[in-house]
Amino acid sequence: MKPIYEPKGAAKEYGDLALNIYTGCPHRCYYCFAPGVLRRDRELFHSHVEPRQNIVEETRKQLERENITGKLIHLCFTCDPYPTGYDTTATREIIKLLKEHGNHVQILTKGDGSRDFDLLDENDWYGITLSGGATRSAHTEPNAIEPTKRIAKLAQAREAGAKTWVSFEPVLDTEYVFSAIRLWYLAFDKVKIGKLNYHPSKINWENFGNCAEHICKALGVNYYIKDSLRKEMEKAQVEE
Ligand code: SF4
Repeated sequence: MKPIYEPKGAAKEYGDLALNIYTGCPHRCYYCFAPGVLRRDRELFHSHVEPRQNIVEETRKQLERENITGKLIHLCFTCDPYPTGYDTTATREIIKLLKEHGNHVQILTKGDGSRDFDLLDENDWYGITLSGGATRSAHTEPNAIEPTKRIAKLAQAREAGAKTWVSFEPVLDTEYVFSAIRLWYLAFDKVKIGKLNYHPSKINWENFGNCAEHICKALGVNYYIKDSLRKEMEKAQVEE
């Protein structure tokens, strides 16, 4: 078992290395891509959540065997490192292990990672996903913590000394994204912005991408436009 792996394709935009700690995720985002990626039954993925078998021990063995050090490791791609309502001791153990071997972590969550802020330093990244407004999230991400609480946790992580980032992906509500960047950009060290893929949307991605980019540039925000959104922006330019 090699828990630390190199993501391929679009997943690579999250980071060069990733590690998935849990078998599933209870947050039930309607747009969740993970069951498809893992070829697992969607209901089972959302209802059966536990640390992957021997994940801590297998990570330890891989770190020692491959002498993995000095890397930034993304937690997690096919699950959330802080599944709401579940014991997240495995996440804490994994972070400790990775850092003991000289690596750093890039967390991305819709849960609450504050129990582990004491482990993070200025080379670690604590990130949250913000897709839509607070009211919409009750329908779109029913079991995740509310977006306002995620932002409060992000601010707490920064106070604790970690770097912070926001994944605006998949974007569901463009006005929410614009106002979130304008309101809270001083709390972010980096943002990544990506479109909704594989689901219908009425959003004009060219307009959205250009507007988001304009706001980030005007405010001096460190931003990255995901490839699929960038392609929509470039496609529109070619068609003009
Ligand atoms: S938080 Fe991520 S892994 Fe969990 S249900 Fe939502 S999209 Fe899927």
